[in-house]
Amino acid sequence: MKDRILLSSPHMSGKEKVYVEEAIESNWVTPLGPFVDKMEAMLSSYTNVPYCAVLNSGTSAIHLALKLSGVSEGDYVICQSMTFSATANPIIYEKAKPVFIDSEKDTWNMCPISLERAIKDLMSKGISPKALLLVHLYGMPAKIDEIIRICNTYYIALIEDAAEAIGSSYKGKACGSFGDFGILSFNGNKMITTSGGGALLSRNEKAIKEAKFLATQAKDNAPHYQHSKIGYNYRLSNISAAIGVAQLEVLDSRVQARRENHEFYYNSLKHLSFISFLKEPKDYYSNRWLSCILIDPIKSGGLNCNDIILALEDENIETRPLWKPMHLQPVFKDELYYGNTVASDLFENGLCLPSGSNLAKTDLERVVNILIKVFKNAGLIK
Ligand SMILES: *Cc1c(COP(=O)(O)O)cnc(C)c1O
Repeated sequence: MKDRILLSSPHMSGKEKVYVEEAIESNWVTPLGPFVDKMEAMLSSYTNVPYCAVLNSGTSAIHLALKLSGVSEGDYVICQSMTFSATANPIIYEKAKPVFIDSEKDTWNMCPISLERAIKDLMSKGISPKALLLVHLYGMPAKIDEIIRICNTYYIALIEDAAEAIGSSYKGKACGSFGDFGILSFNGNKMITTSGGGALLSRNEKAIKEAKFLATQAKDNAPHYQHSKIGYNYRLSNISAAIGVAQLEVLDSRVQARRENHEFYYNSLKHLSFISFLKEPKDYYSNRWLSCILIDPIKSGGLNCNDIILALEDENIETRPLWKPMHLQPVFKDELYYGNTVASDLFENGLCLPSGSNLAKTDLERVVNILIKVFKNAGLIK
């Protein structure tokens, strides 16, 4: 069996061990500690957002962002439908109501037209949405200017789910730095990893202070354990942060490597009329977390994405369909949805290719060769 090629796997720099050892030697084997402080400072400086709390997951960061935006039971929260379920689940933790919005074709992210239609319809029913969860999917920044304008017009808090978008920017500004809150993820399959972890970013100093308070069991300032709020155990450990500091040191080279993967796939497949790529519009800079392709169902004579996935799996190559939109998920089937079929068409016709920053040129060539073989077998090319 040939070596397995994974979709996106952890990529160590070598410094992780050194820093973890340093944490152990100094007995900072604790939640919080010097690497936690260092990682927060590095993230603030990298994104140009002054306040940051590192947490045990991106999901925790989204949960706290919703709480700090004042979301509570019965409130409506607008959410991009085309995303990973972790974006939407915290809405339910707070017993709030998700309102899912379709994507647009340029960036695959939230469609500003469907969004404005949704808000107007909700308002006509006397509903003012409290917060909006915008995602920068696969590292591609969303239509930020339009979304910010709409959030400002209707007084809706903007939470940017930049879990997949550290290292991406729009007009030179980092994803995660535009909203009232930005969230990042350091799960094992993301751009960089702490094995598991996340971060909450904000320009609001008080909000981040409150996030740190809630994330450490909401202990009041008293000599005994006193609580006037419900808290969480959401902080990142100093050991995880030691890994995170080493990973942040090499982030730019990781972005570069993923962009080169995308470039390779693009150059190898762009001549095929039935394949298209997610283009980078002017002013957009994507970290190309995952390289994705769309197969035109008509031009490809009905070649099915699942057949391609299976053919690659036979060669021990891991690929995935694009995210299944939330409004199509059984668990969210009764929730509101505004839009058409952009997200569901993407889901039907899209594929994520192996995209790790640790892939060798020969790995990428193997993937492309199998794809070409599948297209030949389907009679699409000679
Ligand atoms: C990974 C991911 C998350 C969740 O991050 P965790 O750190 O795994 O909790 C949230 N949103 C999106 C879009 C993601 O891809």
